Amino acid sequence: MTYLLRVNLDIKGTKPQDSPRFADALESIKDTAKPGRRVVVLAHRGRPKGKDTKLSLKVFAKPLEKGLKRKVTFIPHFDFEKITKLVKESPLGSIFLLENVRFLPGETKGDLALAKKLASLGDRYINDDFPTSHHFEVSNVTLAKLLPSSLGINFKMELKQLDKIMRSPQRPFVLVIGGAKIDDKLGTIENLFPKVDSILLGGGPANTLLKARGVKIGKSLYDASALKDIGSLSQKQKLVTPIDWRVKKDAILDIGPETEKLYGDIVSEAKTIVWNGPMGKVEDKDFAGGTKALWRAILANKKANIVVGGGDTVSAIALPKRLPKNVFVSTGGGAMLTYLAGGKLPALEAIN
Ligand code: ADP
Ligand code: MG
Repeated sequence: MTYLLRVNLDIKGTKPQDSPRFADALESIKDTAKPGRRVVVLAHRGRPKGKDTKLSLKVFAKPLEKGLKRKVTFIPHFDFEKITKLVKESPLGSIFLLENVRFLPGETKGDLALAKKLASLGDRYINDDFPTSHHFEVSNVTLAKLLPSSLGINFKMELKQLDKIMRSPQRPFVLVIGGAKIDDKLGTIENLFPKVDSILLGGGPANTLLKARGVKIGKSLYDASALKDIGSLSQKQKLVTPIDWRVKKDAILDIGPETEKLYGDIVSEAKTIVWNGPMGKVEDKDFAGGTKALWRAILANKKANIVVGGGDTVSAIALPKRLPKNVFVSTGGGAMLTYLAGGKLPALEAIN
């Protein structure tokens, strides 16, 4: 029996092994690679347009071997005839890692021909990539319709934790939204609006709203296409925007000290906190301070149920060795927000 296993290896940086996403992928492969099974691991990295060596998955082969204490064969090409032969003729127990599926032009378009080629490699499909589940792609949606399919251990765990927090969220319920992928996020702000007491904004979403409110934001990152949609939201009191910021070359790159204090006070009063998206350009240490200050304030709140998610958010904050019981770290950003907002996850629908 050959299992196609979709995991999340969408990890930036030079030490991908340190990411919670890598740890999850490792657990998932361990769980799938039971005796008598072959496993073909499918994953993506970044948003490449065609082949892009910087986004190769090759870097994960050795760390996976180390973590699994088993051989992992990296497949660097998409010659499906060769891949089929390689997999079918391999001994039971073999583990393969296929190159970044987003190098394939049909992947993000849900291309059926591509899905059939991938499906022919295996007998069963497991999706354990929660963070991509809000996107409609071949390796996380179309494939699930062609093979007997199920959810992986991490995906199930995410749903269980997020269900728990949404069942009866204690108030005040504070939502914090920052980061860059604004298109993924503004829709959920709208859907979560009735459930939450305040929404603290940072990063691109804050800039977009500041602009909508008439503030001059210069060259700051914002989403022009979202501007008109948030016109009506921009009047609402629940939405809290920064009151000061750190700037470089005419761009707002982090929240300022007064905002750190304001946001810190609001989260310390909260009983439920959901956070996705850094408050600033965290890769640059001069603009990581707002995000770190917010995390300190959130962690200090022992009375709240806390969910923090998003690839960049989680890698920007220091996770304590043992997370307090009231904190759940989700590997998903856009997916987490979509699910919390009651939206449908195409990848989950495809399995159900
Ligand atoms: P997550 O991965 O946690 O869901 P996103 O991918 O949406 O978060 O956004 C993370 C990115 O947002 C980071 O690369 C960070 O540099 C960027 N970012 C946040 N605030 C700003 C800002 N004010 N200006 C430019 N980039 C920002
Ligand atoms: Mg990100």
